[in-house]
Amino acid sequence: MGEPTIFKKIIDREIPATIVYEDDFCLAFEDINPQAPVHLIVIPKKEVASLDALEDADEALAGRLLLAIRKIAAQQGLGDGYRIVSNCGKAAGQEVMHLHFHLLAGRPLTWPPG
Ligand code: 5GP
Repeated sequence: MGEPTIFKKIIDREIPATIVYEDDFCLAFEDINPQAPVHLIVIPKKEVASLDALEDADEALAGRLLLAIRKIAAQQGLGDGYRIVSNCGKAAGQEVMHLHFHLLAGRPLTWPPG
């Protein structure tokens, strides 16, 4: 095992984060460098490096993550809309090698993304 990722340390409460949601499978917290008025990071508690590293056996986990995002968006009052981004791999800009979804909202979100 290599060095735990920063997100694993947040799961284990070894470093602080503003946690807004937690269940058996998932954790959501505020991004330290927000790109929108609402910028949350939603992660599985299981250590999975990226979307690309999910396996067929992770079907329930993947479903639970999406349903958690929906629940968090409702809790945050994001009825006007929000964006989910998962950077997968270096070329997509993934910096933390623990699967995560950015949940962005609170300003007009343009398309295409950069
Ligand atoms: P990525 O580029 O891997 O898709 O996104 C990683 C995200 O994690 C970035 O938006 C970055 O601001 C956020 N991040 C990195 N380190 C920390 C940290 O220690 N705490 C929190 N809350 N967010 C972090």
